[in-house]
Order: sequence, then C-alpha cells, then structure tokens
Amino acid sequence: AAAAQQQQRQQHVAVVGCGVNGLCTAWQLLERGHRVTLLEQFPVPHSRGSSHGHSRITRYAYKEAEYARLMRRAFPLWSRLESLSGQRLFINCGMASLGSGAYLRNISEVLESNSMPLERLSGQSLASRFPRLAGFRDCVLDPSAGILLADRCLQTLRSRVAQLGGRLRDCVRVTAIEPQPDGSVRLRLSGSGTAAAASAEELTADSVVLAAGAWAGQLLSGLGLDLPLRPIGVTAMYWRLRRADGAAVTGDFRPEKFPTFVYEDEKLHVYGLPELEYPDMVKASICMHDGPDLDPDIRESREQREPYYLPELADFVKRWFPDLVPEPAVTEKCIYTLTPDSGLIVDRHPSHRNIVFVCGCSGHGFKLGPAIGQLLSEMATGQPPSQDLAFMSAGRFKHGVTSAKL
Ligand SMILES: Cc1cc2nc3c(=O)[nH]c(=O)nc-3n(C[C@H](O)[C@H](O)[C@H](O)COP(=O)(O)OP(=O)(O)OC[C@H]3O[C@@H](n4cnc5c(N)ncnc54)[C@H](O)[C@@H]3O)c2cc1C
Repeated sequence: AAAAQQQQRQQHVAVVGCGVNGLCTAWQLLERGHRVTLLEQFPVPHSRGSSHGHSRITRYAYKEAEYARLMRRAFPLWSRLESLSGQRLFINCGMASLGSGAYLRNISEVLESNSMPLERLSGQSLASRFPRLAGFRDCVLDPSAGILLADRCLQTLRSRVAQLGGRLRDCVRVTAIEPQPDGSVRLRLSGSGTAAAASAEELTADSVVLAAGAWAGQLLSGLGLDLPLRPIGVTAMYWRLRRADGAAVTGDFRPEKFPTFVYEDEKLHVYGLPELEYPDMVKASICMHDGPDLDPDIRESREQREPYYLPELADFVKRWFPDLVPEPAVTEKCIYTLTPDSGLIVDRHPSHRNIVFVCGCSGHGFKLGPAIGQLLSEMATGQPPSQDLAFMSAGRFKHGVTSAKL
C-alpha cells in the first residue's frame, strides 16, 4: 500500500487550460501530492476564455438534482479555499428562483428531496425582504446561494497552485496530444503571444487533463473524439437605474437587499446579479443564456464585437424592473460552450484512460469548478471517481462520440 501511495505521489500530470477548471484540478492534484504542469495559451490573467469577470452565481437551486448534489462537494471546497487564503471569495446574498409555476415546483422538489434549505416567499414577504423583486408574486429562495468573486477566485487558485509547487506556463499553446506506447502522453507545444519566440517544444507527462473551455473541441477531435460542443458569444449587461433629477441612489440593488436570481418560463431564461461591478452606479446585470456561434480563435469577428441582445430582454427589464433604463449601460463579452442538453461533459478518453477532460460547461460551470477538479484529479491518477459521473459522460450523446481513432 505504501508503494502504491508512493507511486501516486510521483505522477506528473499536465493540465491544459488555466480557467477555473484547470486551476481547480491542479489544486486538487497538488494537494494529493502529484506533480503538475499547467499550460495556458494566453498570458495570465486574460479575458479571452469563460472564467474571467468579477462575479458568478453559485447555488444549490438547480433543476437537475445531480448538479445540486455536486454543489455539496463544491461549496465546502470554495470555503476551504477561503480559509486557506484568508480571502473573501463568496457573498451569501441568496438566489431567488422566479418564473413559471412549473419551474418553481421543479426547484423546490430538488431542494426538498435533497434536504437542502429553501424558503418560499410571496407577496408581502417578498416585497419587504427584497423591494426590487416586489413585482413578482412567488419566489423560491435558496438561502445558501450567492456570488463567487470570480477573478479573485482565479487569483487565489493561482496562488494556491504556486504555493503547492505547481508550475504554470502561460503563452504556450498545446497543439497536439499524442499517447505514447509506454503509456505516457506527449504534448506538442508552441509559443504564442509574448512568448512567440519560443519555438516548437514538447512535454511528456503520465497523464493529461484537458480543461480547454471553448477550444476543447479542437484538441479532442485530434484525439478522435468529436463531441457536440457549440461555442457561442454571450454578453453580460449592466443596467442603470433611472434617476429623476438627482434622486438619491437607493442602494436597494446591493447584495444586502437584492439576491441573485434566475427567471425561467416557457420562453425565457434570464439571470441577474446585484450591483457589484460598478459601485458608483446602481446597476443590475441581467443577461440571457444564448448568443451567436463563434470560433474562439477569431476574436474580432462581428459577432464578438457587437453585444448580443434580444428585444425580449428589454421587454423583461421594462416589465419587471421599471426603474431601470431598458437599454444596457455597459456590456461585456464572454464565451459559453454549449452541449445539446446544457450539461457538462466530464469523462476520459475511451482508449487512453490517462487522458481525461471537462468541456461543454454551458454557462454554469464556475461554481462547480472545485468539485469537477476533485473528480478529474481522481480520474487522471487512475482512481475511480468518487461520484457516479454517468450524467456527465460523453457517451450520453448517442452521436457524440463518432470515432476514437487512436
Ligand atoms: C458571462 C458569463 C456568465 C457566467 N455566469 C456563470 C454563473 O453565474 N455561474 C456559474 O457557475 N458559471 C457561470 N458561467 C460559466 C463559467 O464561467 C464557465 O462554465 C467556466 O468558467 C468554464 O471554465 P473552463 O475552465 O472550463 O474554461 P475557460 O475559463 O475558458 O478556460 C479554458 C482555458 O484553456 C485555455 N486553452 C484552451 N486551449 C488551449 C491550448 N490548446 N493550449 C493551452 N491553453 C489552452 C484557454 O485559453 C483558457 O484559458 C458564466 C460564463 C460567462 C461567460
């Protein structure tokens, strides 16, 4: 057993991608005593992937019980990172589920059947607790939910990885992953950005974790896996409070008075966060889970430059938040990688068990990062994952795995 443990300690894992998933996986691997090289194509930090930005919603309130249960693993790991670092990473402002009766019933059922806390608020109690949600008749509140301070989480993860001896190499792009006859894996690297001078190079590791976000499809197809991944451009929008002639800023969009929310009905899926990013102005960010297809390597495409914005969203703002100007005041770009069922893919290569991957986070992967990192760290080092991952398997898409050439 001691020899087996020693063997575990000696594994060298290459992690591709320095977003939340790559960093969380590196953290978990290093805590288990493995050696880690993290490879990132852009200079770190950067805003070209999916993880950057000030805030992300975190919650148990999922329609799918499996993801709610995954959060049981993620919440304590985020808290652990907070206490290890002494950094505040989480604001516990709760999350209001709003919208159709069917949606609210679904959320309550998942929370109740998993013994997760919830509160039902309607009418007077909703209006007095959250004045800006007074227009809604019913709400299921997830009181454990709130906001992860995303950029600070990434910075804290990078520090933790460095503290534990992980090696982060940025401006290095992985161009190919080649399983070797001896069971190791060779990665072909090319310098990019400021390190363009660094010519072609390679790195050999015992196993590889692919956490490449919107670029995952390219790397996986080189390994014979064609997964149904669809990178899209999304726009986060911030809305300004109408001010009648110097009227006082009320502060009631602050996290103390305004929770994060997800509104869902038959037609719309909208989420919102309290005022945080621009403290000098009262704003709420509201955006939709949709956008135009994009190639993540073509940064300056028209779709990327122009905010993606539907008239339905302005109607939503006019109807439910009449004190906001129904045109966004600030817009910010980001990428989602969607799967057909909006669930993540976490799996291993069918022929090369030491190549494992996460992709297709479909706009809800940040909060799950530490849980995914823990499971990938187990899989990459030859342990069975400590949770059944069938709901995130690549094989659930019948036509998803078209070939495993290697
Ligand atoms: C506007 C917006 C709002 C969101 N809101 C929420 C929310 O409220 N709650 C929530 O939980 N989630 C949310 N998400 C989703 C969440 O942020 C993402 O699911 C998550 O960040 C994905 O992380 P990742 O590490 O998989 O990908 P990324 O952060 O994109 O990281 C992948 C990294 O891999 C690098 N890379 C790719 N290919 C290579 C290569 N060949 N060589 C070297 N490096 C490579 C990339 O440069 C990149 O840095 C939101 C996303 C956006 C865009």
